[in-house]
Amino acid sequence: MKKIAILGASGSIGQNTIEVIRRHPNEFVLVSFSVYKQIELIEPLLNEFKNVNVVGVKSLEEIKDLINKYPNVSFYEKDLGLNKVATSSCDILVNALVGFVGLKPTLDAIDAKKTIALANKETLVVAGELIKRKAIENNVDIIPIDSEHSAIYQCLEKNSKVNKIILTASGGPFFKKSLDEIKNVSKEEALNHPTWKMGRKISIDSATMFNKAFEIIEAYHLFNVAENQIQVLIHPQSIVHSMVEFVDGSIKAQLAVSDMKIPISYALTNGRRLENTSDFLSLSSVGKLEFYEADLNRFVPLKLAYQALINKGTYPCVLNAANEVAVELFLNDKIKFYQIVDVVIKTLSAHENEKGVLTYEKIVKADAWARNFARRIY
Ligand code: MG
Repeated sequence: MKKIAILGASGSIGQNTIEVIRRHPNEFVLVSFSVYKQIELIEPLLNEFKNVNVVGVKSLEEIKDLINKYPNVSFYEKDLGLNKVATSSCDILVNALVGFVGLKPTLDAIDAKKTIALANKETLVVAGELIKRKAIENNVDIIPIDSEHSAIYQCLEKNSKVNKIILTASGGPFFKKSLDEIKNVSKEEALNHPTWKMGRKISIDSATMFNKAFEIIEAYHLFNVAENQIQVLIHPQSIVHSMVEFVDGSIKAQLAVSDMKIPISYALTNGRRLENTSDFLSLSSVGKLEFYEADLNRFVPLKLAYQALINKGTYPCVLNAANEVAVELFLNDKIKFYQIVDVVIKTLSAHENEKGVLTYEKIVKADAWARNFARRIY
C-alpha cells in the first residue's frame, strides 16, 4: 500500500487523485491533505479515509469544531499546513496546488526525500534549475502528472536518444480566432475550455496559451532537452497527449480519453498500469486527429516561454508572477482578455534579470517585485 499525501485536495487534480485512491483501495491509502477555501470537504474525507492524520487549512479559526471532533488528526494552518502535508509520513506527495504557492512545499518535500507527483507546473517554471539541483542532491524522483508530460514520460525509452519532444495543445477555446477577434472575449467564453474540465486559473491559462508556454518550460526541466528540441503542435481533439521523436525518426505518442485519472494513476504507481476505471478510447468514434503548427506570433506566450528558457535567471519567475496577477485581474473584471499578455510583456521588459545560481531567496524577491509591478500597469 502506498501512502499518499495531497496538497490542494479540493481542486480538479486533487479530487481526481482522491477518486483514484477510492477506486484502488488495495493500492493506495490517503494519509494527509490540504484544502484552502473548501473546508466543507474536510469532514467527509476524514470519515471516508480513516488513516488521514495531518490536514492543512487556510485558518484554524474556521475549523474549531473539527479540531475538537477529530482529536487524532493534527491540523495546521497557512504555510505550516502546506509544509506539514508535504513532509508527512507519505510515500508520495501529490502537489496539486495552483501557482507560485506550490514552490515552497515542493522544496520542503525534496528536503524530506519524498517522491513527488507534480501537477503544480509553476514550481518548475519559476524554479526549474533549483528544483532539479536539489532533487539530484537528495535523490528524489519528480514524476509528472500534467497530461502532456505524463505522455512524454510514458513514451521515453531508457536507451534511446530523443530528437524532439512534441507537446500537443488543444488550442483552447480561441485557437481559430485572430488576435483581433479575441480582444474583448468575455470571462465566460475564456473559461469554457473545449476538451478539459479544469479550475479557473488553468482554464484562462489555456485560453491565452500561457498554460502551454509553462508546459514548454516544464518539459525543458523534466526531460533535459534544449529549448529548440521542444515543439508545440495544435491538436484540437486532445487525444494524442504528446509525442516523442527519437533520433531514428520514429515518433511515439500516448493516446487516451481526456481523463486526468490516467496520468495520476501512472504517476502514483510510477509506471505500473492499473485497471482503467473510466472510459476506453474509441478511435473510430473520434474519426480524425488534426495537427497544426503553432504560430508564435499568434500565440505570443509561446514565444515568451522560449525567450525565458534562453534568458534563464529570474526571467521565467517574472513571467509566471506577472501572469498570475494578470489572470486574477481579468477574473475580477479589472482588465480585458488581450491585456493579460500585455501585462506580462510589460513586466518582463521592466525586469532586470538576475542571473547566476538561482536561489529560493532570489526567486521570492523577483516574484514579489513582478507582482507589485504588474498590479500597477492598469
Ligand atoms: Mg497540461
